[in-house]
Parts: sequence; C-alpha cells; structure tokens
Amino acid sequence: MTSANASKFGKAWILTVGNELLIGRVINTNASWLAKKLSFLGLTVQRIIAVPDTVDDIAEELNRGIERAHVIITTGGLGPTYDDMTLEGVAKAVGRPLEVHEYALEMVKQFYQARGLELTPERVKMARLPRGSIPLPNPVGAAPGMWLEYNDSIIISLPGVPREMESMFESHVEARIRDLYPSISVIECGILVKGVPESTLAPDINRLARRYKNVYIKSHPKGHETQKPILEIKVMVSSSDRRKALEEAGRVLGEVESIAESLGGEVGKKSCV
Ligand code: ATP
Ligand code: MG
Repeated sequence: MTSANASKFGKAWILTVGNELLIGRVINTNASWLAKKLSFLGLTVQRIIAVPDTVDDIAEELNRGIERAHVIITTGGLGPTYDDMTLEGVAKAVGRPLEVHEYALEMVKQFYQARGLELTPERVKMARLPRGSIPLPNPVGAAPGMWLEYNDSIIISLPGVPREMESMFESHVEARIRDLYPSISVIECGILVKGVPESTLAPDINRLARRYKNVYIKSHPKGHETQKPILEIKVMVSSSDRRKALEEAGRVLGEVESIAESLGGEVGKKSCV
C-alpha cells in the first residue's frame, strides 16, 4: 500500500446490494455475518451500507469506499436477472469495461453442463467481470464471485444467497484476507452479570473504556433494567500477540467482575472465543 493510502489499512466496508433489503423483505444477515468474520480477522468494519439495485448507487458507494477502506465486500446482485447489476456498478466505479472472463465462463459452463442445461446469454452474463478481476468459484451456486484490486483497495463481490456467500467467503476469501493481515489475533470474551442495572454499572464501564483504549468493551442488556437486570459484558481485543490479547481481555473483565460484585451482582463464568 502506498503511503498516500496508508490510512485505509485495516479498514473494511460492507456494501449489501438489493431492493429487497431496503423494503424490509429480507433481513440483512449477510452484513452481520461478514462483519463478524472481518472483525475476527482483525479488520475494523467502518460502514455497513445497503443500496438499491442500481448501477449508479452501487458505483457511488464503491467510490466512497475506495477512498477510505482497504477491503470492500459487496453481496448480492451477481445472478442472471435484469436486476443483478453489482458487477456493472463495480465496472463503473473503477472505470473498466465488463468482459467475459475465460475462467469464470468455464465455471458457469461446468455448473450448467453438469445439470444438462445450455449456456444461454443470461448465464454467460454471470461470467462478465470488470477487466483485471480474479473470478472466485461458487462452491454451491452458479454465479462466480470477483476479487479486484484497484487503487490500493480490494473489492470483493460475493453472491446474495447467504449459503453461497458464506461458502465462497470461507473457501476463497478468508485465507487471502488472513494473508494480508497475518499478525493480528482477535479475542472476544464475555461474562454475564445478574442483579445490577446497566445504568449503575455504566460509569465504571465508561471509565474502563477510557483507560483501556485498545479494548472494545460493551454491555448488552438482556433482562429488565430494574426488575431482573441481566447484562452480558463483552470485551474485544486485537493484538499481534494472542496471549497478550487474552491477558488484557481477562484483566478488563476481572475488573468488571469485582465492580459488579461490590454492587451486589452475581457474576457468571468467563468465556472466550
Ligand atoms: P442469484 O444468483 O440467486 O440471483 P445474487 O447474487 O444475484 O444471487 P441476489 O439476487 O441479490 O443475489 O439475492 C438473492 C437472494 O439472496 C435474495 O432474494 C435474498 O433472499 C438473499 N439475500 C440477498 N442479499 C442478502 C443479505 N444481505 N442478507 C441476507 N440475505 C440476502
Ligand atoms: Mg439475483
């Protein structure tokens, strides 16, 4: 990455494409699934955006993402229908033409041939990628994904169907991103606190958040604020040293535990992932 673009390092954007997301018909589970994956790979997800199925909206948000993020992942809009226009949006954003990619065409051809189906223009459309892209095989569906490096950013386009998106990410994207950020370990630990209202614990959580700047600490209320308060306290630490990250998470949660107990709370066992 050039020094001019060093501020993008470690930053990711997620761009989910589809009118169905914006009318509330489909819950945006792709965004939360990817956000978790990217966070555990050590990236900071700075935006989750949903855009309609229009080339201009897709290109506009991609251009903003390219200015600010190293990794930009899109989901949806890779299929054969008229409203699947994500790659057209990518092509517009990066100013490159769409062209049939030989390997992508081979992937599509094999998928349909194995099912005794012809290669129609709609099916060939799925193999049209912006010039310079690397096609990503789709382990469970027809449409290939895309990996494109442009102006010190990486644009990765994945399908919309969650099962396809997840399997493509896990088989063809995750390891590549880990190679880009090899030295980062991310730890998340949590405890359950019963009997202390969130607002009572809040000043101490705020103080800990200020003191431990590299630890993300958050309370999640699960019960009722005053009648049966139950709080899940989560901490997330990223570090180049996994042992240190675990120690730091343990230290912060240890402090929360003693504060909660001094406030008459009951604290459950710590768990980490
Ligand atoms: P297809 O080849 O099936 O057309 P696609 O890559 O073009 O796949 P879309 O057409 O955008 O993807 O979405 C297909 C389906 O996947 C949607 O109808 C919806 O059910 C689901 N889907 C799309 N986006 C999301 C999302 N962000 N979160 C959860 N589900 C989604
Ligand atoms: Mg589609």
